[in-house]
Amino acid sequence: MPVTAQSEEPTHCSFFCGKPSSEVGKLVSGPGIHICGACVALAEQIVADTIGEPFARGINAWASMTDEEILNRLPRVAAEVDRAEAELRLWVQELRRRGVTWTRIGETFGITRQSAWERFSGEE
Ligand SMILES: [Zn+2]
Repeated sequence: MPVTAQSEEPTHCSFFCGKPSSEVGKLVSGPGIHICGACVALAEQIVADTIGEPFARGINAWASMTDEEILNRLPRVAAEVDRAEAELRLWVQELRRRGVTWTRIGETFGITRQSAWERFSGEE
């Protein structure tokens, strides 16, 4: 493929996965960003989890909820946090598998290498 044509065509998913279009199929393009189908699905999931749950059903609903109802909801909210945390750990584990250092992972979160290790390593 000529280099000039290549710069026109999106070649990699520039969202989460960074995979080449040859691996992930058609990329959806916006200004300066190209997203594969898998990342679109993942983004939808994240939006549904982070905005759909707490905002639509939580914060806006608090006014009409009794103390009891809010207390009853807490375990579910906590379970969602755990699930999100577990997913985050998988992403970090993938980085570790690729040899990315705890220092770099920590920097991404604005925390120390030690804090990153404690949060994500799963080791004592
Ligand atoms: Zn992608």
